[in-house]
Amino acid sequence: MTLALLGWSIPLQVVFNGLSLGLGYAVIAAGIVLIYRCSGIINFAQAAIGAFGVASFVVLFQNYHLPYPLAAGLGVAGAALLGVTTELLVVRRLFDASRVVLLIATVGVAQLIAFLIFYVLPPVKGGPIPVAFEAKWARFHLGDSLVVGTRQTSLVLLVAPVLIALAWFLTRTRLGLHIRAVADNPANARLVGVSPRKVSTLVWGMAAAFAGYTQIAVAPIVTRTADELAGVSSTGLLLRALVIAMAARMRSITVVVIAGLALGAFESLVAVNVDRDPGAFNAFLLVAVLALVLALTRGRTRPGDTSIAIGARSTPIPESLAGLRWVRHAPAGGMVLLLAIALLVPLFVEKPSQLLVWTEVLVVAIAAISLTLLTGWAGQLSLGHFAFAGVGGLAMLAFTRGQPMGLGLPIVGNVVAVTVDVPWLAAMALAIGLGVFFAVLVGLPALRVRGLFLAVTTLAFGFMAGSWMFNRAFWNGGRQSVRSAIRERPELFGVDFGEPRNYYYLCLAFLVATVVIVSHLRRTGAGRNMIAARDNEAMTAASTVSPTRAKLTAFAVSGGLAALAGCLYAFLLPGFNATGDASPFSPDASLRLVAIVIIGGVGSIGGAILGTLWVLGLPALFGATDTVQLLTTNIGLLLLLLYLPGGLIQVVQSGWAATIRYAARTHGAATRAVKPASTVAFHERRHSTPAAGTPWLEAKGISVRFGGLLAVDDVSIRVEAGETVGLIGQNGSGKSTLLNAISGFVDHDGSVSVLGRDVSSRAAHERHAIGLGRGFQDAGLFRSLSVRETVLVALEARRRSLILPALLALPPTNRWERTKRAEANDILDLLQLGQYADRRIEDLSTGTRRVVELACLVANGAKVLLLDEPTGGIAQREAEAFVPVVQRIQRDLDAALVVIEHDMPLIMAISTRVYCLESGHLIASGIPHDVGNDPLVVASYLGTDDRALVRSNQPATAP
Ligand code: ADP
Ligand code: MG
Repeated sequence: MTLALLGWSIPLQVVFNGLSLGLGYAVIAAGIVLIYRCSGIINFAQAAIGAFGVASFVVLFQNYHLPYPLAAGLGVAGAALLGVTTELLVVRRLFDASRVVLLIATVGVAQLIAFLIFYVLPPVKGGPIPVAFEAKWARFHLGDSLVVGTRQTSLVLLVAPVLIALAWFLTRTRLGLHIRAVADNPANARLVGVSPRKVSTLVWGMAAAFAGYTQIAVAPIVTRTADELAGVSSTGLLLRALVIAMAARMRSITVVVIAGLALGAFESLVAVNVDRDPGAFNAFLLVAVLALVLALTRGRTRPGDTSIAIGARSTPIPESLAGLRWVRHAPAGGMVLLLAIALLVPLFVEKPSQLLVWTEVLVVAIAAISLTLLTGWAGQLSLGHFAFAGVGGLAMLAFTRGQPMGLGLPIVGNVVAVTVDVPWLAAMALAIGLGVFFAVLVGLPALRVRGLFLAVTTLAFGFMAGSWMFNRAFWNGGRQSVRSAIRERPELFGVDFGEPRNYYYLCLAFLVATVVIVSHLRRTGAGRNMIAARDNEAMTAASTVSPTRAKLTAFAVSGGLAALAGCLYAFLLPGFNATGDASPFSPDASLRLVAIVIIGGVGSIGGAILGTLWVLGLPALFGATDTVQLLTTNIGLLLLLLYLPGGLIQVVQSGWAATIRYAARTHGAATRAVKPASTVAFHERRHSTPAAGTPWLEAKGISVRFGGLLAVDDVSIRVEAGETVGLIGQNGSGKSTLLNAISGFVDHDGSVSVLGRDVSSRAAHERHAIGLGRGFQDAGLFRSLSVRETVLVALEARRRSLILPALLALPPTNRWERTKRAEANDILDLLQLGQYADRRIEDLSTGTRRVVELACLVANGAKVLLLDEPTGGIAQREAEAFVPVVQRIQRDLDAALVVIEHDMPLIMAISTRVYCLESGHLIASGIPHDVGNDPLVVASYLGTDDRALVRSNQPATAP
């Protein structure tokens, strides 16, 4: 029986086969969900572990003729063993590392397993993949048109009970409940008396056994013969499983099963209806991912934050040593040394193929730097980065070849056909532009999602591009293999770049330009803003910088650089496949690039280069033997991660830190740099005050809802010119949420106006640009920036950094940077923070961080300051000294102040008026004396909360 819908035929048989395939996907996804819930890790090795199970099973069955149950049992056991080993050797060691390091570690594990399957297991004797139940009864008709084959029957009989058992185990058994308890909150584990580590090992073993078991059941459906088994892309399987896990928000096993079935059925239908295009399903998969991202991120749930919490820890040169030339020039000196070696390489390399490899190193280094910028600075994990390189490279070839440009869509066909034929430099510019375009497009979901979702989105994009998009006529000229490009290498200024040596130097020049541009970017505002947006979005917006824009900028710059690398790559190779596993722009190349960046050290340009040298340079030096490959990718990657979680650059950085310490010991005090004469006013008056009588801040009818909880209920507050307004109430009464609504950090009903301007529909950064200044309960600031850099971000309020001038090192970038630096130093001196200027925020005490936050308010020059427990987390004596500082800043800025404070005598003394909240309601407002004696306030707050009398040392919670 066949149905038809929108021109697609829907044969029942196909749907049924698809459903059984989907069941297989679902179980792999269930394993991923299980591990994720228990340890927050996205296990990229899940499919590979299963593949190991299948491979050992097939070997045992075919080569050694073990009976099916025994062979399958051993296969499952092998997979389980692999899972447990991974947990014990890798996961456990990296338990405290950033989740993304763990993610990459599991990618390494996956590669290692592929290696094991290929080299350690004996090769499989051919033949079909064994099916569990081959008896007659297992093959039957359902109705008159549906044939249920033995493979499907076996799959359902094998997998369905296991899925039910899993659901039962998790919801009904003691151990299952423990696992769920630990998954929901690791601290629970201690309460219920289970060791989280033991649970972790158990879950990994279970999930791995699961993967092995189901993949054994699914294998006959995915591939027909044992030989094909090795060719099944586990990345494709993984991507499908991840999409399913994502649809279930990494939670419900039921949703996993439903989503899996749907995906399997859909995939089979695509294969029947769009069969001309084997990769077409991946295009649909990307669409599905994007739809999921849009559908699931509405509301407040933000599953799986795996934003990169690592950054290269380079020691900045202290101002006191800035006078020492050799210290100042040392980092550049290191780069120059590397450059000198790079310049000499062609003189020592004889074979052209060798030179080709070294040229490749240069090109990949450019791509690695572009990923460093995106992942290391902006914290956006891109698992499909080489697709941007592919966009650049293939577009460049198309442009220079005068190939007709068709926008191929799977259904509509080629709708646009334009022929472009331009000189190669112009083609390169166009190709880079296209790279920027695609990167921004892929980056758009990143505005709504982080971590896992973004990783899956970029992975899906890389997959779609590598298997389908690059197969369109526009990208590959309609041929499977892109025509040899080597003879088309350009000529410029009379230099023939068709000559390999010249081309090497051309690529080197581009690499040097990339290093110069990107490191310049890091030292100026645009780069700082990217890191700020990664570390703390709310604080970035409070500094009047749009985190959205900072992230998109990172995507754009990074995509452009990757496209540049692609352009150079396309001319390097003597012809290549645009799609498929052998393509230089395949998803595997993207994963390798992530590994390169992690091996080198995320976030550092030097690290990106070191990583490339390690992964590509070592094989070039010592020959690409299996051992070298093993060292540079699989095992090497794992060992490096385990022993040098900061990457190779960590070694360089430790050496550098020691050098600085040495220099400081020998020259420190003597050569204290002369402070540049102060040229700047203590603050600039950014905002004109509104007409007399207009309140400076007015919030009317503010309500904030978190799911079912009404955290703030119809609250109105008003702040007049120059007032100090206190906000009091028990913990959890909605004080911080009210300030967050006014700041624009949470969605709210009601209206807010600042200095007489209605800002209700404005984004947070715009509200702060109009005159709000904000301090946070946790004073988190930007953990990986230095104190001076933090103030520099706040100074964006005065002078916005421009991205294009910064990229091209054009004015006014450097002049503005100098001015800002002088301003920052002034402000730091004013608050006696000079000695901390070069310290990283995360190394400071809470007290110091609170002072830095004040420095940021000064830098901002805001008119309405909103402070959330400004003395929280600091000792009583310091707090007493702190308040006059706040008041002085308020006076100097001529600002109004709204302050949340638990210290009652203090708040009553400094406030002109006080508001009191209880469970989201405003219960009293007025002059301090009246509010302090209001019976409601006494009953709700003063009488019950000890901390209203004793100062709080409560650990802060994020706003
Ligand atoms: P306060 O600052 O007065 O201690 P908060 O404004 O932080 O109180 O919290 C008010 C209520 O809103 C609390 O019940 C808190 O759990 C809840 N809440 C705060 N932020 C969120 C959030 N992002 N998601 C869900 N609930 C939240
Ligand atoms: Mg609070």
